[in-house]
Amino acid sequence: MDFLPIFVATKDRKVVVVGDGQMADAKCRGVLKTAASVTVYTDSPSDEALAWAEQGRIALRCGLPIASDFEFVTLFYAAHESDAVNDELALLARDAGAIVNVLDRTDACDFITPAIVDRDPVVVAIGTEGSAPVLARQIKADVEAMLPADLGRLARLANSFRAKVRALPEGLARRNFWKDFFSPTRLSSGTSDKTLRLDLETLLARHMGAEHEMGSVAFVGAGPGDPDLLTLKARRLLHEAEVVIHDRLVSRGVLELARREAKFIDVGKKGFGEQVTQAVINEHLVRESQAGSKVVRLKGGDPSVFGRLDEELSALADAGIACSVVPGITSAAAGAASLKQSLTRRDRNSSITLMTAHDAKGYAEHDWRQLVRSGQALAIYMGRKSASFLQARLLMAGADNDLVITCVENISRPEERRFTSTLTQFAQRLDDDNWNGPLIIFVGIGKEQVSHAANATSLKELSHVSY
Ligand code: SAH
Repeated sequence: MDFLPIFVATKDRKVVVVGDGQMADAKCRGVLKTAASVTVYTDSPSDEALAWAEQGRIALRCGLPIASDFEFVTLFYAAHESDAVNDELALLARDAGAIVNVLDRTDACDFITPAIVDRDPVVVAIGTEGSAPVLARQIKADVEAMLPADLGRLARLANSFRAKVRALPEGLARRNFWKDFFSPTRLSSGTSDKTLRLDLETLLARHMGAEHEMGSVAFVGAGPGDPDLLTLKARRLLHEAEVVIHDRLVSRGVLELARREAKFIDVGKKGFGEQVTQAVINEHLVRESQAGSKVVRLKGGDPSVFGRLDEELSALADAGIACSVVPGITSAAAGAASLKQSLTRRDRNSSITLMTAHDAKGYAEHDWRQLVRSGQALAIYMGRKSASFLQARLLMAGADNDLVITCVENISRPEERRFTSTLTQFAQRLDDDNWNGPLIIFVGIGKEQVSHAANATSLKELSHVSY
């Protein structure tokens, strides 16, 4: 983002517009929605501009402003047809402390004007930083259709009731009250002011009588990164969450779906060494939910796969806190999708093992011989640092040098990359090209198998292990 979206106070402040024609009028039209004091410099005012002047809504001037005309000016719109004039005036305006918008030249602007959906006092601003105005208009049309025409009336009425709601304890109790009031049905019905006031009174009485609510924790699978891979339930819970406790591997795009006012606690753990201990994570979970908050514990992929879910569930059960678990797409499944491969395939592998190559104590030992002999495919999590260990163990257990290995890094993210190699070569390749992002190592799954589908039937055969 190069421009920070903010709403600027313009009531009784000076705004100057320079320029003729439609674009200058359009700038004025936007500013005139507020109670700014607007002066327009134009040599050929449009009928609309003349009418505004007649109604006393703008002051019309001929020619161009001079330095003293910019004194105490808050915003300046340079919409003159000449770039040179705009640049010169922009300098004068900035010298006087104004911020400047230059018509059609985002790079010369201190601020840009978004497309807006106006349900005063509810205003939705849509910006593309000048990159796609048509897209902004399309989004505007969608939002227009979504928001009821008299939303502003509802917001004003709610505002007039705000003082009474202070009778409720600050924080969650008040938020719950407003959430109940702004329910989807109320937003879409054209109820009269009188009925709405009555509704507010009744609702407040009900909330005043409500017991202190206990919070809850939802363990939510955040998937491998792409927010489109979230379940609808995950999206809804994220949107409602008051506290979001998340791991390092949860992508920014997913976190963005939570409300901005939510409290975010990053308990990211990295590779071998732990940054935040499990005990501290448990403490966060218990403390926040006991305070009455709706907590979402976001875990990368699926919460039940290498997510230490049980430890957190049991800490909450001990504290008597309600929990739910919402599954997510685990990295191995997303990786297979990205490879356009099945995790299991008839006549190739009838089972797949999700395994890790290291655990809390270090490298994780398995019955390697049995794994190789069984002919199943493997999806190895957290295997980056133990790639050489894994390679050695599989070779020692009798796997073939040419056993197919596919590594997929940053699955479903823009920086995703992958390669298919062999057991003897894959570890070196990981080192050579700095594969340091989250990674799944598939053993016995790879694109070679597509081309050799007819004869490469199982890990057992691929590795040529004799039985
Ligand atoms: N619960 C997670 C796994 C957590 S363990 C899940 O179901 O996917 C962390 C490991 O998951 C990482 O070391 C990596 O092996 C894997 N992982 C998580 N996100 C990934 C991604 N976007 N791409 C590749 N691997 C990923």
